[in-house]
Amino acid sequence: MVFETMADRGHERVVFCYDKETSLRAIIAIHNTTLGPALGGTRRWAYKTEADALNDVLRLSEAMTYKAAAGDLPMGGAKSVIWMDAANKPSTEQVARAMGRMVDRLGGLYIAAEDVGVNTQFIDWMAQETKYVMGGETTARGGDPAPYTALGVISGMRGGLKHLGRSTSLKGLTIAVQGVGALGFNVCKIAAEEGARVIVYDIAEDRVQLAVNALGAEAAHSDADVLTVQCDILCPCALGGVITANNIPSLNCDILAPGANNVLGDPDEDATALLGAGIVYCPDFVNNGGGLIQLAGLWCGFSDTELDQRIRNIENVIMKILNDAKSSGSAHAAALAYAHQRLDAGQNSSHVEAKSSQASTTTGRA
Ligand code: NAD
Repeated sequence: MVFETMADRGHERVVFCYDKETSLRAIIAIHNTTLGPALGGTRRWAYKTEADALNDVLRLSEAMTYKAAAGDLPMGGAKSVIWMDAANKPSTEQVARAMGRMVDRLGGLYIAAEDVGVNTQFIDWMAQETKYVMGGETTARGGDPAPYTALGVISGMRGGLKHLGRSTSLKGLTIAVQGVGALGFNVCKIAAEEGARVIVYDIAEDRVQLAVNALGAEAAHSDADVLTVQCDILCPCALGGVITANNIPSLNCDILAPGANNVLGDPDEDATALLGAGIVYCPDFVNNGGGLIQLAGLWCGFSDTELDQRIRNIENVIMKILNDAKSSGSAHAAALAYAHQRLDAGQNSSHVEAKSSQASTTTGRA
């Protein structure tokens, strides 16, 4: 079953990790390293079952391949999950260091970073055991990627607005944000500073209060409320699978510009339904690629100016994808085609490199 799923999705390697000392249970999934080593976050989550954890890491790692390719990065796609036995359990240095050792054993094929449940402190603890980790404040480089992801999400929104022939200014627009965590808060901050009316909902009341008090956001009453409120742009920034066939008919937005990964329950069908409903969908793995561009770019040695340009370029990539959406069948299909073009080009160039190094080896021998 696991092998079939890996083969279907095209994964290269899945590593199951257990640490006796700390009882760490983790899975590292490396989807594709055609374009380079694979950078992807580590998620800590209290999955109901082992199958849920496996399914999540397989889906997330595949999306990272497309995110890196769409960001035109020389990096592959991977992700890891830590299966917690209880929700909201505080992280410990011992567990983080055990995870760092697991990552280190892969020798640089996988580079870890933040995801849901993992903060900069956790990353710095992991970095005590491995150099293959990004996004810490002290031991590991990069810092929190959320502000860069948010900048990319806002750039994606501008691409959506331009596609509709509207101004790219957010001033006076209504933007609804589900989830006001690290990413959602930064999205709200940029939008509020630019003069947008921001409506938020989070299951954590303190996060809602923070957005209301610090940014002047308005609070929605529930998930259903924030997802269906009348707005120019809907930006889900909590977990995946929140937009489905069930709620697409109730959406009241012009543009769906997600921060969350895997935001559509069924990407193929839901993206087609969104197109049919006249809602501009900025595909998740392109729209939320800013943090990856920042951390991967630092890993590759890009300058600050190049990093900023690449993150803001998400606007142009989204516009190209939206232009192709109709002929591709949906924005999701167009985004996948865009990423696959880059993967194919990478595969062909590595074949050419392999052939030319073979030729030079042969020449050397002769
Ligand atoms: P986070 O843990 O900091 O924030 C998530 C927030 O969502 C929390 O405040 C939580 O209370 C809230 N939440 C959870 N379930 C909810 C629900 N049903 N309704 C409303 N709120 C809910 O995580 P984050 O880093 O902000 O990431 C959010 C999403 O964005 C995730 O899907 C993540 O994979 C994705 N993402 C984040 C980044 C980044 O740089 N942080 C980059 C790419 C993608």
